[in-house]
Amino acid sequence: MEKRKIALFGGTFDPVHLGHTHVADEAAKHIGAEKIVFIPAKRSPLKGFRPAASDDDRFAMIALAIAGKNNFELSDYELRRPQPSYTLQTVKQFQADYGRQTEICWLIGADSIDDLPHWYKIIELIDECNLATMYRAGFAPPDFSMFKEIWGAKRVEKLQQNVIETSLIDVSSTEIRNKLAAGGDITSMLHPAVADYIYEHGLYQT
Ligand code: ATP
Repeated sequence: MEKRKIALFGGTFDPVHLGHTHVADEAAKHIGAEKIVFIPAKRSPLKGFRPAASDDDRFAMIALAIAGKNNFELSDYELRRPQPSYTLQTVKQFQADYGRQTEICWLIGADSIDDLPHWYKIIELIDECNLATMYRAGFAPPDFSMFKEIWGAKRVEKLQQNVIETSLIDVSSTEIRNKLAAGGDITSMLHPAVADYIYEHGLYQT
């Protein structure tokens, strides 16, 4: 019997934008995942002022961005924990909740690749789930060949097989925050309800 698949999508989502929702939707279709679970990361005291918006605001904005999309879900799993979580811990928790008949994919954008060697127990994470890498505008197509020596050929092959050629949506949360701080227009980069929320709550404007 073919396994049921779900895609987990972690990030700061500070704020969530159309790049996130668009590529996650494409990736889920490609994978054959029945749903995508957005998992905002907890605000870390160690990271100073990042993320700029509070946990509650980031959570509320994702809820607005995915409202009415049947295959999108939002989880407060990492926000509820006392400390910022490692991805491995989150993956293990979801795997335990869904059971071994469900295959877990964890989505990342191509911009995250260089950082991967610094992720907590990255080798275990590669083995534990399918790390699925999406294309990202401004970044080279995902290529893991440089990690053969440290992770081994099999893991590199697995990562490479899980690359998804998603559309290039040239939007980032950084650009949105910078534009807002400069009084620029961000409405084309966000779900309209998220833009309204940002203006109503005066987020990112200083
Ligand atoms: P920031 O500019 O603050 O770093 P971001 O736009 O990269 O934020 P994150 O919340 O850090 O957004 O991203 C969560 C995940 O989504 C990451 O794995 C990131 O690579 C991916 N991602 C974000 N935007 C895009 C996009 N436009 N296309 C593909 N992947 C994306």
